Amino acid sequence: MRKSIFVLGGLAVMLGLGFVLAQQDWDKVTIKTTHVAGNVYMLEGRGGNIGVSVGEDGILLVDDQFAPLAEKIRKAVQNLRPGDIRFILNTHWHGDHTGGNPIFGKESTIIAHTNVRKRLMTEQRRGSRVTPPAPKEAWPVITFDRSVSIHFNGEEIKVMHYPRGHTDGDAVVFFTQSNVVHMGDDFFSGRFPFVDLDSGGDVEGLARNIGQIINELPADVKIIPGHGPISTLDDLKAYHTMLKESIVHVRKQIEAGKDLAAVKAAGVPKEYSGWGWRFISAERWLEIVYRSLTKK
Ligand SMILES: [Zn+2]
Repeated sequence: MRKSIFVLGGLAVMLGLGFVLAQQDWDKVTIKTTHVAGNVYMLEGRGGNIGVSVGEDGILLVDDQFAPLAEKIRKAVQNLRPGDIRFILNTHWHGDHTGGNPIFGKESTIIAHTNVRKRLMTEQRRGSRVTPPAPKEAWPVITFDRSVSIHFNGEEIKVMHYPRGHTDGDAVVFFTQSNVVHMGDDFFSGRFPFVDLDSGGDVEGLARNIGQIINELPADVKIIPGHGPISTLDDLKAYHTMLKESIVHVRKQIEAGKDLAAVKAAGVPKEYSGWGWRFISAERWLEIVYRSLTKK
């Protein structure tokens, strides 16, 4: 009994806000729709930002938040244009980005990196947190290792894998004509990111990936982050600088023989004191960087 409560609690934490919330709480969530550019819209409800491609070929979603929000998401999409949701792209396996898969997967084709399928098919353990396998309808049916392109609504939608970032299965989605990119959780705009070290994530890998992506993006691109508002290339550059400076800041202290408690006590550089938030405080961020740098 105690154990099952523990597991359930852990699962709720893993999913961000969790399925154990009363139905009433899900009822309170509204879906906000914003036009980003070209064919692409962003939906915000609870969990990761959803990208939507809308046009003559139909509808494609990037991520799908939580199952209890599926009908609200569907309604918001149908307000843009009636028709089938033909494709769902998952940027990574976390429940606040794939929670709608069991519902949408019955009627849409789910596409994701190979490791997203692997993790959704099997029980995931992160310390004391246990996530059971997702139902079969939630599993991606098309997988890729490096990249895949979907030619849809008059543009190439290029889906690129960047290894060892937020997880080991992250994809970044480039809408090449609309000039929009959906970064998944490789990008938390203006705040410290969660890096899932237990799912193959790595802080230095993330910084390297963001540097590469910055080099590939046009100056006037519109960026949908995994969490946070629609952003610019300058916002992504500021985030990249924060990542690099955090790594240098913590590495120096490790080399000076400081332990995690001392690193936490020293805090983040002054200019980043405003980047902590409900889920990732400055202390939690320092712990993630410390663990990432010392795990090899
Ligand atoms: Zn995530």
